This record gives sequence, structure tokens and C-alpha cells, in this order.
Amino acid sequence: MAKKKTTKKKPVKKAVRTVVRKTAKKKTAKVDALLATVRGAEHRYIGHVRLDVGPAGAARVKRMIYPPGFHWAKDMKPVTGTELCMHAHVGFLARGEIHIEYADGCIVEHKAPHIVAIDPGHDGWVVGSEPAVMIEFDFAGDTVNRLGMPDAHRH
Ligand SMILES: [Zn+2]
Repeated sequence: MAKKKTTKKKPVKKAVRTVVRKTAKKKTAKVDALLATVRGAEHRYIGHVRLDVGPAGAARVKRMIYPPGFHWAKDMKPVTGTELCMHAHVGFLARGEIHIEYADGCIVEHKAPHIVAIDPGHDGWVVGSEPAVMIEFDFAGDTVNRLGMPDAHRH
């Protein structure tokens, strides 16, 4: 008797679980996790770039959304006041495509999914009609040193 009861209970539990999963899948499908607001992070816009940032150990993790048409020289140069972007960008390009140009004319193109390590001293823009979504790691003002990146692009 005990065995029969156990057997009868199991299909009922499975059926309930299946219904719950179907509901959860429908809700998840509506949210694009790469573009949605990052829970628990700080949110702001800098030169049309959407930035969600949060602490992770001694570092910061940033989800950057560069919109289609974004061009550093046009959108960020007035904000930073430097001739080129002097930040190092280290992380993962999760969506979209970017074009990077260094002062010496070197060109690097990244298309998602791609690991990215961009030296300081570059211009760059979004290629195509999709936003470029980058997950970046930095150490605020000490990013170049602590990530072991060169202070400028060289060979
Ligand atoms: Zn070069």
C-alpha cells in the first residue's frame, strides 16, 4: 500500500511542476536579460551609452549598451575632453559589433560573442543596426595597471 501511494503522488507533483515551468518560461522570454535594467546596480547614461555598474570584489562589473550609430569621437569626445578614448576596455562583447581604430591606424573589429581587450588611445563606433552590449571589468581610476593593460596601444 505504501508503495502504491508513493507512485500515485509522483505524477501529480510532476504535472504541477511542468505547469510552473511553462509559466516561468513565458515570463522569461519577454525580458531580454542583456538589455534589461541590472538589479542592484547603479544606472546612468554617459554620452548616449547606457551604463549599469556594480562592485565585485576590488573591481567593478559594468554592463554597457552602446546604441546603434554610437561613435566615440562624436558622442564621448565632448564628455572626456581627450583626443581619443584613454580607457582600457576589458570584457565580453555579448551582442552586436564594434569597430576600433588606434592612433597609428590599426583597426580591430569585434563581433559578438567575443572577448575584448582594447588598449587606451582609440576611437570606436558601433557597426550595424543592433546595439553593442559589453560586459566590462574595471578598477575605476586604476584599471590599466590592475588589469595589466598597456597605457597606450603599441606593437
Ligand atoms: Zn597599431
